[in-house]
Formats: sequence, C-alpha cells, structure tokens
Amino acid sequence: MYRNKNISAPVIKRLPRYYRFLGELQANGVKRISSRELSDKMGFTASQIRQDLNCFGGFGQQGYGYPVENLYNEIGNILGINNTYNAILIGAGNLGKAVAMHMSFEKRGFRLIGIFDNDPAKIGTGIRDIRISDLDDLEEFCTNNKTDAAVFCVPKGAVQRIADRLYKLGIKNFWNFSHYDLSVHYDDIIVENVHLNDSLMILCYKISEANSILDDTTA
Ligand code: NAD
Repeated sequence: MYRNKNISAPVIKRLPRYYRFLGELQANGVKRISSRELSDKMGFTASQIRQDLNCFGGFGQQGYGYPVENLYNEIGNILGINNTYNAILIGAGNLGKAVAMHMSFEKRGFRLIGIFDNDPAKIGTGIRDIRISDLDDLEEFCTNNKTDAAVFCVPKGAVQRIADRLYKLGIKNFWNFSHYDLSVHYDDIIVENVHLNDSLMILCYKISEANSILDDTTA
C-alpha cells in the first residue's frame, strides 16, 4: 500500500471526491481516463489533477491516461477505507438516526457497532439492526468491544462529559457533528468536524457574490 506521510491537507481533502468520481466511472464501465477528461468532470484543472495524483507515485502513463480501477483502488488504499475501525454513535435523535441509517460506514473504513442515548424512551429500541444502549453502559460496552472511534450527535452541552469518559477509555478519534470544539480541550485526538450549516452559509455567500457581480454589471 502506498504511504506518503507528506501529502498536504488540501490534497487529502480532494481524495474522497476523486474516489467518488472514479467509482462512478468504474460502475459505468469506463476503463481509462485522461487528466483532461477528469478535469472536465470534476472541475479541477488537468494540471491540478496530475499534480495531485503524482503525490502518490503517479499512476498515469503519458498519453494513455489513468487506469480507472487501479486508481480507484489505490485511492481507497491511501484513504485506508479497507480498514474496519469500530465506531459507536452517541445521540440517537434526528441527526443520529439519519447518520446511522444513511452513512455507509462499512464502505468507508468503519463498522458501526453501538449506539448510545440517555433517553429511556429510546434505550432498547433499534436503528438498523443496532440496539440503542443506555449511555450508563458506555464503559462496559467499550471494555468488551474494541472501539476505535465515536460519532457525536448530541447537543453541545452534553459533549464534554461524554468525551472525557471516552478519552479515559482510550477512544481518541471523533466524527463530530456537535457544535462543541473538541480540539480545544484535547491535544492528542483526531477529530473531523462536520457542520452542514457552514456549507449552507458558503452557498449563501456564493449566491450573494454572484448577485453582486450581476448588480455591478447591470448598474
Ligand atoms: P435531537 O434532540 O433530535 O437528538 C439529540 C439526542 O441526543 C437525543 O436522542 C437525546 O436523548 C440525546 N442526548 C442528549 N443529551 C444526551 C446525553 N447527555 N447523553 C446521551 N444522549 C443524549 O437533536 P438533533 O437534531 O439530532 O441534533 C443533535 C445535535 O447535532 C444538536 O446539538 C445539533 O445542534 C447538532 N446538529 C449538527 C448538525 C451539523 O451539521 N453538524 C446538523 C444538525 C444538528
């Protein structure tokens, strides 16, 4: 497996997008693709694509393009999605249910092995085929089941105490949907924050910007 510790953060951020596009190409039976064609489909420049893919040792052959299946598999390897990290989800509310139901953990290097909540009405019910457990049982569960990561779907105010408990159990990898800034409190954790509202605001900014350019040209 190719491992280059010096891959820059922006390149890593683009990898899931390459992976998604290449997966679609593969599903459509495409065998080879040039950086120019990838560029047309993905909106990155062809030279950006060549630079990105060269970071991993260069898969393409001059004038011959990239072998789609090979590149797809290699990017999957680089992302490490062939691993099976055990994850638990905390907070089985609206968001937690949607995440548990619709995120394909298994295709992204994870397996969802437990869901926790403190609402007696939810404890004992299930999402997919996973029983919602009482948060009081967190320590026992994580001691008996190797747990690599936790997904936070609880309100901000609940996170700190739960994160402390997980940290004490040695669980230091978090997919954080809450608005609590975990990295301020722990310096040796791995955290990936997801804020859908941030994305919505960027859309708002882009629309406003486009409208103001339109206003300027029509003034
Ligand atoms: P919700 O009220 O439907 O669900 C919250 C769940 O957490 C409930 O089931 C509740 O019982 C549980 N809970 C609360 N305190 C707990 C505790 N101490 N221990 C265990 N379980 C506890 O809310 P929601 O709509 O699912 O949103 C959850 C959180 O995610 C909110 O803080 C919200 O702001 C945030 N959120 C983030 C995004 C994002 O893009 N990052 C999007 C939507 C919501």
